[in-house]
This record gives sequence, structure tokens and C-alpha cells, in this order.
Amino acid sequence: MNGPDTGRRELLRSRLKELGFDAVHFAAVQPFPDPGLREWLAAGNHADMEWLARSADKRLDPQLVLPGAHTAIVLGVNYWPGAQVAPGAFARYALHADYHDTVRPGLVAAGRVVEELYGIGGGDYRYYVDAGPVMERGWAAAAGIGFRGKNGNLISLGHGNWLLLAVILLRPAIPPDEALAAGRAAQAGAGQLCGKCTRCLESCPTAAFPSPGVVDARRCISYHTIENRGMVPRELRPRFGARVFGCDECLAVCPWNRFAQEGRSLLLERRHDLGTLRLLELLRLTPEQFREVFRKTSVKRTKLAGVLRNACIAAGNVWGGTAGECTPSAAPALAVAGEREAAVAELLGLARHEAPVVRAHAVWAVLRILGRAPGLEALAEARAQEEDTAVTGEYAGG
Ligand code: SF4
Ligand code: SF4
Repeated sequence: MNGPDTGRRELLRSRLKELGFDAVHFAAVQPFPDPGLREWLAAGNHADMEWLARSADKRLDPQLVLPGAHTAIVLGVNYWPGAQVAPGAFARYALHADYHDTVRPGLVAAGRVVEELYGIGGGDYRYYVDAGPVMERGWAAAAGIGFRGKNGNLISLGHGNWLLLAVILLRPAIPPDEALAAGRAAQAGAGQLCGKCTRCLESCPTAAFPSPGVVDARRCISYHTIENRGMVPRELRPRFGARVFGCDECLAVCPWNRFAQEGRSLLLERRHDLGTLRLLELLRLTPEQFREVFRKTSVKRTKLAGVLRNACIAAGNVWGGTAGECTPSAAPALAVAGEREAAVAELLGLARHEAPVVRAHAVWAVLRILGRAPGLEALAEARAQEEDTAVTGEYAGG
């Protein structure tokens, strides 16, 4: 479509790219044909993330979010840190200050550009980064940024799996971009540009894909290490490897990543130093150190107890796992053999931590590393004082 509206759209696109957005695409707003959201929810795949169920109607019908909306501007921020950056125990997106906080000023600035170019007011648009009732991946596919892979992620032809997505819904009608041919189909399914590849499905350490494109959060390491505040199912723990916050496995193996370039980080604040933290350091975190090290990062959302719980699982795997159980992300650099004794000493201390969830996973790790009888002997004092049933359950095994 050519004409003045297209010229204005292109001016908007270039202004938004200057603000730091790496992908800027436009889609016409319409109610979504449900790409399987209700079915996914009905099967319980959202675990305890009830907010996903509560927002389903709005996600599927943008008019419920912004009556009179005609356009969705889909924005992508490239967060690929470069091949030389080892993520360590953290998912790559977490090697930055919390992107919700750093992308938001970019969205505020983008809103001002839209107001200026389209003569609208602040009530004529809404923007969201991750936390809103919008189908970011569906809109990104509809707007031609990429397609939904069998890993359920939005895959950009230019940036691979490494785009953070934001959406601005607005009332003016802006000529839409063409969806990729596969992108249109991706609203109803996943994997149209995957061909015969199934790497992501096969690489998942916990077999969290009941079918291509469908992630069961109840089995997903990302969900458990980030969202779940309680006990991690015992049968899944040995499969977590050394991951402490998030999991990139099904993203990192994707061949579409070969085109990714290191992100500009205009809307992100690099914290690549987090990737160098060793497991022993994580097990030793004090409340003060936790606040200091993870200040302004996404990791702070799990609170200290969450990081300690996850570090206990990782320690149990790294120093107690048997060959073949840990996937490649159980990076040896995170934990050296000589630190095993020191790690066990920390875990024995954590078996008396104030938070039952930390105690429970510390007990699990000690028993895994030392073996049942020697482990119970080392834990005798902590066990004698234990009253919480979740923790006594760990001592009992079963
Ligand atoms: S994030 Fe990790 S655990 Fe979750 S589906 Fe992907 S590979 Fe599996
Ligand atoms: S790893 Fe293969 S199957 Fe999975 S999303 Fe990438 S191309 Fe598709």
C-alpha cells in the first residue's frame, strides 16, 4: 500500500528504531482466532499462573483492552548478548537490568512520537511490555516480525529467538505490514518455518512439550525457577542441571539463531557479570549481598529464598548428579570439584534456613550429594528440629 499514510508509517518506524527498538512492525487489530489459548488453559498448562486465565478474553479481543483500536504496533528488542557471553546459571534475558523497567521509558517515548505524528492523545493508545493482556507473539506473527516456532517462541528471521516483545495498541488505522506467509498460519499452529527440525522439542531437559508449540509450564524449568514460589516437583529436580534462573535450552538450539547479532542495548542495561557467578557464591548469598548483586534485575522477583532454593537444586545436580543426567547447561565453570565440600557445608547450613522451601531443597541436595545414609547422618541436628511437613517429607524421601 502506497500513499501518505505509508510515508507516515515509515517515518514512525524509523523514529521508533532510533529509540532503540530493533523490530518495528504493524498489524491491523482484529479479534484473534484462538491459537489454542483456551485449550492450553483448560489443560492446566499454565500451572498456577491464574492471571493468564483471567486475561484470556482480553488477550483474544483487543477491543476489550482499548475500544476503537485499529492498529497494533509490535516492537522487538534484541537481547542476544553475543556468543562469547556464557549465561552461567541464568537465562540470557536475565543478564540485564529488569527489561520491564528499561523498555518502559522507550515505550513512553514511542507514545509521544505516535501522539506527535498522528495528532492523538494519551487515551488513544495503550502499551505493554510482557505483563499486559495482549498476545505479543500472535501480534508479532500477524505483523510479520516472524513466526511461532515449535518451541512456542516468536522466531524472527533477523534476530532468531532473542527478541523481547512489546505492543502498542492504538486507535488510528496505520497500514499494516504483511505477515510472513507462515506467520498467518502460525496463529493457528506453530512451526511452519521449522521444516523437519525438532531440535527444541528433543533438547528440553524436562520433556515439557506435550506437542509442538505447546509448553506445559508444570514441567518447564523457566516456570519453576522464576514463577513457582513453592516446592519444585522432586522428579523434575535432577533434570534442572545447573540452571538457577530460567532456561534457554529450547531457544538456544534453534538454527534460526544463526542470523542473530549482538543487541544494541539502547533499551537494555547489560549485567553480563551475573553469568560469572559461581554456584558456591549463590549458596552463600546473604540478604544484603542478594539486594546488592541483583538490584534492579529480574532475579530480585524470586526473592532470596527463590534463588537459594534453585541454587540448592543446581548444587545437588552438579555435585551429586550422575553422568548423563545433566544437560550441557550444567556448565562445569559454575562449580568446580574442589568446592564440593564447601558446598555441602553451605547446604547443611541452608537445611536450617528460616524458609521451609529452602530447607526442603537443601535437604534434597545433601542427600543427593552424600547419599542417603551419610546424608541423614550429616543432617541429624537439623532433622531433630524440623517440624514443617514439606521438609520432613524430604527427609523421608518417597
Ligand atoms: S524453557 Fe527449558 S524446560 Fe522450558 S520448555 Fe524450554 S527447554 Fe523445556
Ligand atoms: S529448534 Fe527447530 S523446531 Fe524448534 S523452533 Fe527452531 S527451527 Fe523450529
